[in-house]
Amino acid sequence: MAEQPTTAPPASGPRSGPVDAITVRDVTRDYRRPRTSLRHPSPPVHALRGVSFAIPQGQRFGIVGESGCGKSTLLRILAGLDHPTSGSVAIDGRDITGLRERQLKFVRERLQLVFQDPMSSLDPRMRVGDIVAEPLVAQGHPNRKERVAELLEAVGLRADAADRYPHQFSGGQRQRISIARALAPRPKVIVADEPVSALDVSVRAQVLNLIADLVDELSLTLVFVSHDLSVVRHVCDRVAVMHAGQIVETGSTEQVYEAPQHPYTRRLIAAVPTLGKALSGVSAADLNRE
Ligand code: ADP
Ligand code: MG
Repeated sequence: MAEQPTTAPPASGPRSGPVDAITVRDVTRDYRRPRTSLRHPSPPVHALRGVSFAIPQGQRFGIVGESGCGKSTLLRILAGLDHPTSGSVAIDGRDITGLRERQLKFVRERLQLVFQDPMSSLDPRMRVGDIVAEPLVAQGHPNRKERVAELLEAVGLRADAADRYPHQFSGGQRQRISIARALAPRPKVIVADEPVSALDVSVRAQVLNLIADLVDELSLTLVFVSHDLSVVRHVCDRVAVMHAGQIVETGSTEQVYEAPQHPYTRRLIAAVPTLGKALSGVSAADLNRE
């Protein structure tokens, strides 16, 4: 279980304290658009325009911004699924920029993703037990059955869920299955891209609470993306507000929510109907029902 102590030097100069879980430096990502004219090449889409931040170990870091502002692009780059046009990303002080797929084993072990729509991220032909065990197979885990049962229990599902298929579960339960699979390889960082946006409002609070509880219990670092600041506020300590590929404001979630500095943040808070009521109205009975 215990890893070799990390003796890798920190990403920049001498410093004290532990290395940040994630460091993003001046990341840009341009997408080429298909050419529509022979004479005039289409201008690229600047999906990210110089994004920088650092997330200390154990922090719950939210990224909020409206659709199309570059959130998913940024998460794909953090997970090594895409590469920045310029800039760099380090995980535990180790630069992952430009690593090829087979060199990314380190990232896969440290960092796992949870996506918005569990229906499209879970293979409908696979039994839940095999879905959750998939990362364990890659690791050559000796007691996969026991581990799968333990994971299903940790996300509030019965052990016999392992024998069933994704379509036999509700949206909230399917997202629990995605979370179990993400936790299987014992990552240190969970990156969640709008994990409750596709769920019924009544179920959102339960899944958010589950994520928050697991992050606490397992001392994980969380990167949590949403277009809704009230959702981010429920689970995150810090938040970065993104607009058109840039971070326009960063701060503690309370501070940003209560006293937004940037006009874009103010508009965002005003525009999005809050989940506050749904979240505060959740009873203990609700938490066990779906
Ligand atoms: P968000 O997750 O915040 O909704 P995305 O990261 O998905 O935003 O997209 C940011 C911008 O990049 C959008 O303008 C989107 O259209 C564009 N984009 C995303 N993926 C691609 C791609 N594969 N090819 C071209 N443009 C893309
Ligand atoms: Mg997105």
